[in-house]
Amino acid sequence: MVVKTINSGSRGNGYALISGEDVLLLECGVPAKEMLKAIDYQTSKVVGCIASHVHSDHVGFIKQYMQYGIKVYTSDEVQSDIETIMGEKTIGLQRMRRKNFLGCFSVVPFRVPHGDTECDGWLIDTAEGRVLFITDAEYCPYDFSKMNINYGLIECNYSEDYLSTDDSGSKNHHVLTGHLELQTCKRLVQSINSNSLRSIGLIHLSAGNGNPRRFRNEISELVDSDVDIWIAEKGTEKEFRLTPF
Ligand SMILES: [Zn+2]
Repeated sequence: MVVKTINSGSRGNGYALISGEDVLLLECGVPAKEMLKAIDYQTSKVVGCIASHVHSDHVGFIKQYMQYGIKVYTSDEVQSDIETIMGEKTIGLQRMRRKNFLGCFSVVPFRVPHGDTECDGWLIDTAEGRVLFITDAEYCPYDFSKMNINYGLIECNYSEDYLSTDDSGSKNHHVLTGHLELQTCKRLVQSINSNSLRSIGLIHLSAGNGNPRRFRNEISELVDSDVDIWIAEKGTEKEFRLTPF
């Protein structure tokens, strides 16, 4: 399985998971043309696009994807947000319900806290392994420690250390409510660390309050040396594989 990052962060989010002949798109927050270029215009292989929530850096280009005939899937809760705010109808899935098959992928949305906005993480299964995708979450409300996660696409947005202090002396929490802080991300990685874990892409880093090198180093220290910890940036391409060769 290959994962391509078309972009990651507040300027737009889009990832493509390619397994065999099937392509699953994650988020539609980058122009459809950029996404399609990344998958060599193999539109007919796209089995769908799953989206986390209504914010424009995640679904801002939903119209374009639909014009290409790509079906966009969300939880029922996010479906109503997108219909109200953007006037587009996604295919709503029941949260926590297993066996929603999109080609060779089976996907399960689950609620994550993101301020006042409905938002979902996704558990994605294929014959090539199990992926945990979490973005725009203050923390992960579920315990995945017994679920043999193989790969993660996990937000590591900011560190408390880099938050500026405003005039009243309090840090600007309100700006960042609903995003994974470094320590929260570390606890999540520790919880899913097992012999099954192979690779974790750190996604949605904040440009102003992040530090890719430090985040990567600190998270690498939590896992075995053969677990690949990497930063998802525009154009990053990674192979997710269960065996070393
Ligand atoms: Zn958001």
